[in-house]
Amino acid sequence: MISGRFLALASAMLTACAACFVTPAAALTIFVSGGAPAQGTPLLVEVAETGPVDNMALTWRGAPCPLRETAPGRYEALIGVDLMDAAGPGILAAESVAGGVRNRVEMPLSVVERDFPVQKMTLPAGMAEFDAPTLRRIGEEKKALDERFARVTVPILWTLPFLAPVEEFRPENFGSRRVINGEPRAPHTGVDIRLPEGTPVRAIAGGVVVLAAEQFFGGKSVVIDHGGAVFSLYYHLQRYSVEEGRRVARGETIGAVGATGRATGPHLHFGVRVPGGRVDPSLLFALPGKETAK
Ligand SMILES: [Zn+2]
Repeated sequence: MISGRFLALASAMLTACAACFVTPAAALTIFVSGGAPAQGTPLLVEVAETGPVDNMALTWRGAPCPLRETAPGRYEALIGVDLMDAAGPGILAAESVAGGVRNRVEMPLSVVERDFPVQKMTLPAGMAEFDAPTLRRIGEEKKALDERFARVTVPILWTLPFLAPVEEFRPENFGSRRVINGEPRAPHTGVDIRLPEGTPVRAIAGGVVVLAAEQFFGGKSVVIDHGGAVFSLYYHLQRYSVEEGRRVARGETIGAVGATGRATGPHLHFGVRVPGGRVDPSLLFALPGKETAK
């Protein structure tokens, strides 16, 4: 069902529809949570036809987005704008096929620039520069994770609302442009939550554990695949209590806050990836909720 908190961009839909073929019997509509998205924003999308369809597809800036059917002719998707994506216009497009008739609707969405903080850090040379074997390890770990993120699994296991990974969720530093020892480095793609070592960490939604291992940067790390290319990442854990391949439920304890890997003190590094990119987890918890969540 479409929540009252959804912003139904019907006028945008109608404008877009003026240029496309719409049969009188079928009306394809798109609903998006929120208005013009800023960099790093997750978006909940609902696509609806007036009746059952043979096929429905959704694309954002040309890339396909996995859909979940919620009722005949109705679908939902979680997508987002990567924190490094360029500001400017984008097209969210839905295409349905029903009884051999193709229907398409386009919704222009303008991505707004977000003012990310700059975080200047001074680290001992040993923490900021790495030898050849370490660089090789970092490269291999990144490649393995990127391959995993590129694999879209079904079924979609996430449900709304998402649950914060810790009880006291006070996120800091999303998207910080980091300068270490005077040199610009990769931005901070998640949030940090400072908490005492041993604080329980829980799964934000149902999913399958696809990584439970010691990583160079992340230390003891867990990554959960929630299906439909939605992933949650939990780093610097003191310990984890799940293994790869394990199905976890929303709210299940997966480990505890620690300071393993490249961490300057106990905290949880928490990140979220959706189709479209890496988004601000705090905005994920603000998405319109549904009572059906487990
Ligand atoms: Zn972090």
